[in-house]
Amino acid sequence: MSILIYGGTIVNEGRTYRGSIVIEGERIAQIKEGEDAPRGNYDEEVDATGCFIFPGVIDEHVHFRDPGLTEKADIESESRAAAYGGVTSYFDMPNTNPHTTSLETLEEKFELARRKSHVNYSFFFGATNDNSALFGDLDRCRIPGVKLFMGASTGNMLVDGRESLRRIFGTAAELGLPVMTHCEDTRQVNENMRRARAEYGDDPQVRSHPLIRSAKACYDSTAQAVALAREYGTRLHVAHLTTARELEFFGQESNITGEAVIAHLYFCDKDYETRGALIKCNPAVKTSHDREALRKGLVDGRIFTVGTDHAPHLLSEKQGGCARAASGMPMIQFSLPTMLELSDGGILTLEDIATLMCHHPATLFGVRERGFIRQGYVADLVIVGNQRPWKVTEDVIQSKCKWSPMIGHEYQWRVCQTFCNGHLIYNEGVFDENSSGQEIRFR
Ligand SMILES: [Zn+2]
Repeated sequence: MSILIYGGTIVNEGRTYRGSIVIEGERIAQIKEGEDAPRGNYDEEVDATGCFIFPGVIDEHVHFRDPGLTEKADIESESRAAAYGGVTSYFDMPNTNPHTTSLETLEEKFELARRKSHVNYSFFFGATNDNSALFGDLDRCRIPGVKLFMGASTGNMLVDGRESLRRIFGTAAELGLPVMTHCEDTRQVNENMRRARAEYGDDPQVRSHPLIRSAKACYDSTAQAVALAREYGTRLHVAHLTTARELEFFGQESNITGEAVIAHLYFCDKDYETRGALIKCNPAVKTSHDREALRKGLVDGRIFTVGTDHAPHLLSEKQGGCARAASGMPMIQFSLPTMLELSDGGILTLEDIATLMCHHPATLFGVRERGFIRQGYVADLVIVGNQRPWKVTEDVIQSKCKWSPMIGHEYQWRVCQTFCNGHLIYNEGVFDENSSGQEIRFR
């Protein structure tokens, strides 16, 4: 099977240029610069005139809820949403049920994905207070790294013992396994919650969420993670940075990087008034000052990657305030259009988007032959355009939970086509139900 993509503008490795791409089987066979397409006979031709071609997005941070929480979401539904959003690879987090904290539960997830995933997949191994002895048995070619909850969130996988943390950072460093952390000081969060309840009652309004899940709780926990990474030389990646102050730790050492996710780049605390608990997540969406700092961090190198922290819940679970409403929101279907919208606002360039969402997740975790548009690499590609505005309505939402914090939003940018492993799996609203992803290889 050969496919020619012609007429488009390629965004890759810091450059934006007119060019054509030839796909043979599952790989990129040729990239030709210039207006003229290479001559030849192709099984299929895709006209990308007026559109931009990016590497398929690698979302390093998703919660597909499978196994065990599949009333919220599952690998089939969420990987479909990924395809609609131009995301061709994802790393899923271990706070499923059972937790992905043993070799057996990890293997079960691979088996589930083999049967159910429409796009490429891998899984973080979850650290616990006492499982670092298993790290040596993990196959470094199959997983991105270890996920460590230094703050409690959905699924409660909190690791807070000082000695446990030292063992995790030390063992991961010896093995060359990246550690991705959720940083929030749970003791502070609990104390803030106790005080808020004393003042406002059992379920404080959601606008108090960023005061309970406070900036200081984030800062202190991130400081602890960074100190441990410096001491042991661990490859640390701090997930979902939310505050201006935490950024001081980043952009200096190559083994210490941070992620920003769409919610914190797009929303600020003023949005609690209109969107309420729909935008409640952990760590919390914070002030507009914090959001501006994060946006600056995207271009000055202090933020290394952009993921989604795609975290669906049932709409019924998103009711109530700080205590009752579940934390997390689905986002994978709209992450790329949202970032493209930020580029229209002059916040970052198209090249920055390719770097933050495709190249850096690949280089950080050592993803093999994906994340770049290069000859010989796997043909994971997404074609986007900004000519036909569209609105987020319930019927376009692919996530199983069927709601989105972006509902009603009008986007200029749309995902037109998604290619995964050389297959056109999504084409202008039409999805290939039979598409299946591959296991991602590392290092
Ligand atoms: Zn998460």
